Amino acid sequence: MKVDSLTASQCFAIANEITKCPDYQALTHQFIEILENFCWVDSASAFEIFSHRKQRNAEIDSDKVLVRKFPLDFATDENRDDCPLLSSHPIPKHIELHPDPDNEDCSIAILPITSELGPGRALLVHGTFKQDELELLEQLLALYRNQVLLHDRKERDVLTRLPNRQSFEARLTEVCEFYQKQLAVDQQDERTSWIAILDIDHFKAVNDNFGHLYGDEVLLHFSQLMEQKFRHIDFIFRFGGEEFVVIVNRVTKKEAELILNRFRLDVERYAFPLVGKITVSTGATCIQRGRLPSTLLDSADKALYYAKEHGRNRVVLFENIENAQSAGDANDDVELF
Ligand code: GH3
Ligand code: MG
Ligand code: MG
Repeated sequence: MKVDSLTASQCFAIANEITKCPDYQALTHQFIEILENFCWVDSASAFEIFSHRKQRNAEIDSDKVLVRKFPLDFATDENRDDCPLLSSHPIPKHIELHPDPDNEDCSIAILPITSELGPGRALLVHGTFKQDELELLEQLLALYRNQVLLHDRKERDVLTRLPNRQSFEARLTEVCEFYQKQLAVDQQDERTSWIAILDIDHFKAVNDNFGHLYGDEVLLHFSQLMEQKFRHIDFIFRFGGEEFVVIVNRVTKKEAELILNRFRLDVERYAFPLVGKITVSTGATCIQRGRLPSTLLDSADKALYYAKEHGRNRVVLFENIENAQSAGDANDDVELF
């Protein structure tokens, strides 16, 4: 049932719905549902805006604003402009109304959310807004924003600001569920997502030789390099310590290998302050229908172990060692693990 205005008990019910959400994803789904329940709202959607994170590095075109729609949509073309309204205007500090180009009786309200720890975010609400409605939106946005800040503190790593292991697990489950449905529809599509664990080589020696603070500095630079080099439709995480994870979305095996090797070379060439050169080993595997998140992690970890055992500074796909292993079993002379 759509509602017009709210009684006090409805206000508390909304506050309860918002504050009981276990994570940012659930919170944002819930908030969109709450907004869409008002009769003066036609639709609401959420976006993540990756302009400032890219601006941290001078090499990147700072005018280019990358906008990603929430919830995650794998059908999205990496170059598609998801929302011209957000990519062509600076994100406002307060709620801002724009005319709706598709419906002259409607407006689009931009609801901005800024957080020290996360990317820029905004909700777009299509509807008809009078003063009362705008005031209610302000209050609801304040409630939502407070929760976003709390979730960011829980779900992001304080040093690198990347999503942490807890958010990784939620995201991986979501990606696996997507392929569970998607592959039933399109069996021909070779593109899938790849989960890669990136582990800095001999990082203990960095701490031992230069001290923990410089070790932290390396982790920070490494995370920024990841943010800069991977596409904004990929998902990156700090897994823990000197281990990072990237979910490379919607690419073939060949592309995944290319992308991960290109990043390996980016790290090799990067001049880390004081420390100089470091290298990274990567183990990856593809997210296939029916493979459980725990199995995927285990496979990526085996591939990483293989990379470490075979000289470090390399990318190993689990699928390749698996093939080599079957060939080895046939010849009975190759010991892989
Ligand atoms: P390998 O090439 O086999 O991965 O060797 P490694 O030295 O990188 O791996 P190892 O697991 O032996 O050491 C990881 C080190 O990372 C040990 C730990 O002190 C350090 N470390 C973990 N978290 C942090 C952190 O947040 N800051 C800093 N400075 N060091 C960290
Ligand atoms: Mg490690
Ligand atoms: Mg290491």
